[in-house]
Formats: sequence, C-alpha cells, structure tokens
Amino acid sequence: MIPFHKPYFTGAELGYLQAALQSGKIAGDGPFTHRCQQFFEARYHFPKTLLTTSCTDALEMAAILLNIQAGDEVIIPSFTFVSSANPFLLRGAKVVFADSSPLNPNLDETTLEALITPRTKAIVVVHYAGVACNMNAILRLAQAHQLSVVEDAAQGLDSYFESQPLGSLGTLSAFSFHDTKNIIAGEGGMLVINDPALMERAEIIREKGTNRSRFFRGEIDQYGWIDIGSSFLPSDLVAACLYAQLQHLTDIQHKRLSIWAHYLQRLQPLLSRGVQLPFIPAYATHNANLFYLVTRSASERSALLAHLKDKGIATAFHYQALHQSAYYAPLHDGRPLPQAQRYADCLLRLPLYYELPPTDQDYLIDCLLAYFQVA
Ligand SMILES: *Cc1c(COP(=O)(O)O)cnc(C)c1O
Repeated sequence: MIPFHKPYFTGAELGYLQAALQSGKIAGDGPFTHRCQQFFEARYHFPKTLLTTSCTDALEMAAILLNIQAGDEVIIPSFTFVSSANPFLLRGAKVVFADSSPLNPNLDETTLEALITPRTKAIVVVHYAGVACNMNAILRLAQAHQLSVVEDAAQGLDSYFESQPLGSLGTLSAFSFHDTKNIIAGEGGMLVINDPALMERAEIIREKGTNRSRFFRGEIDQYGWIDIGSSFLPSDLVAACLYAQLQHLTDIQHKRLSIWAHYLQRLQPLLSRGVQLPFIPAYATHNANLFYLVTRSASERSALLAHLKDKGIATAFHYQALHQSAYYAPLHDGRPLPQAQRYADCLLRLPLYYELPPTDQDYLIDCLLAYFQVA
C-alpha cells in the first residue's frame, strides 16, 4: 500500500533531543525554543515569534490578544479545519462563514465585503495548501473597515505572497508543526506577532497570564499574575525536534516542490476530463504542502478513491464545510456556500511526502491517467 502520508525525520532529531535532555532543562522557553524563534525571525523577518504547543493554541492566543468577545463577529472561510473557528467561538464571538474561490479553496475575497457588519472585528484567512490568499484585496478591505486580520498559516511555512512570507501580513499569524505539515515536531505551533503593540501581552498570555518572561530576562525582580492566559508554550524537547527539522528546511522544501511539480506536469490530461487541478495565482509562491484534484461530483470522487484503494494507493479527502458541520449548521445563517461545499464533496488529496519513491508516484499517476482514459 502506498500510504497517504508519512512523516519525515531528517536524522538530526535524536542528536538535538539528546542535547536537550543532557542540558537537564526541558521546560518551555529553553535554548532550543529561542534558537527556533531566532531562525524564523532571521529567515522571514518576522518581528516577533513565540513557539506554542500547536497552531490551535496560537490561534487561541490571537483571539485573546484581539480582545474578541461576545457580540463580536469574525469572518472565517467555511472550508478549513475546525481550529480556524474554535478559538473565536471560545471567546464568545459569532463566526460568519465565507465561501471559497471557484479557482482554489482559498477564501473568495470578492464575497467578503458583503459579510462585514458594524460588529465585525476580524477576518481569518487560511492559506490552503500553502497557497497565499489575495492579501492585497483582503488587507485593503480590513484597513477600510478597521478590522484585524489573522493568518491561519498552519500550512503556509515558507510560502510567499508576492515577496512577503506568509505569516508576515496579518496582525497576528499562526503556524503548525503537526505531523501532517512540511516541518514537524509531533505537535507544535508558532504565533507571529506583527503588531508591536501586542508583543508584550502575547508573552504574558502564553505564560498563564504572568510576566514570567520578563522575570527570566532579568527585567523585573519578581513575577506575578497580571492578565488572563494559559500554558501555551511547548517543552524544549518539542523545540529541539523542530530545530533539527529547520536545519533541513531547504532540502525538505526542494524535495516536496519537485514531487508537486511532477504531479502537476503529468496530470495535465485530466483537465480534459473536467478534473480541476491546483491553481497558483501569479502573486503566490507556494510550499508544496499538498497536492489535490477536484472531481466533478461527490460520486466521482468516491469511485476514484475506491479504485485507487484497490490499486494499493491511499488518498484522502479533506475538510467538511464547517457551515454544514453537526456543531455549526444550526448556528449558521443559512447562506449557501457552494464552493466550500464543492471542495468538501469533491476534493481529493494525493500522497505527497519526502520519502515518496518516484516509482510509486509514477505508478499512482499512471493509475489516475488510466482511470480517466487519458493515458
Ligand atoms: C493543521 C491545521 C491547523 C491545526 O494545527 P495544530 O498545530 O494541529 O493545532 C489549523 N488550521 C489549519 C488550516 C491546519 O491545516
């Protein structure tokens, strides 16, 4: 069986994990955490980064930092992971779901303005598959209505909008290092704070509402409880694993991009069968986080998935449209979101990981071309 996913370990992880253990200190904010943060700040010019236990936690920090509260509305695409929405619901906000673009699963910025009301506080953008949303249009709208923008860049590490790295465009941005992303630490995430006014409070919220970070830097004699917060910081063991991966970032990205490009090149004939392939807008430089097809119907997708499974190939669909989920459907305002529904029904992801053998990839492509009779 060709698995759908296989986490890649570079070989450097054990050495760094051992070093962390030998240091005798593996709590949060240790040396590896700082090395990772410095890496991101140097490579992407992020003004301030904080490692977190997950992208979900980074988004929870964002919701707290933006003072989201009951009565506020937050615009979020429907075709995304639940963690784009939960952090705002936990603060009592109302989620207003936006539809995806017909061209790719990213939020359709042309539908946004109609969703903004006097209660709107923020727009959450999700760079699906590591492909940038149309940030110029979104930021212009946000500025005109004085809204914050949160980037759910869980899939977007090392991707760009024009010349700007994803994560550098929102008021706050969140990354994930979960096993399913390009760079992994088991579970892990990062908050990027682009607004200097939120930097100090971000440290406090991450440290259970205390100013312990300042205390550790020797800036104050004693630390205390000064705000709300939680324990959002990961063990330095997680950071040690992440640091090993970061040393191999260029190699990992190169490999993934070449697998992705091979799919796109060889699968072009599927277009003649009405299958949609990934669309990368001119403003986006992506990171090959995932490769997908969109079939013409849900039944076509089910048949294809079953066929590939018979051939020993695992594929996977992706999100349920959140406005149709068991939890949120009763709370949704009833607007149909046809593109989100179409991606929920028809999108199929293909295996894409560092150790995917080229012969397996070509076998898989041959099976697809044969299935659609375009071989
Ligand atoms: C993976 C993912 C998340 C959640 O990341 P965790 O680190 O597992 O919390 C959130 N949003 C999107 C779009 C994701 O792909």
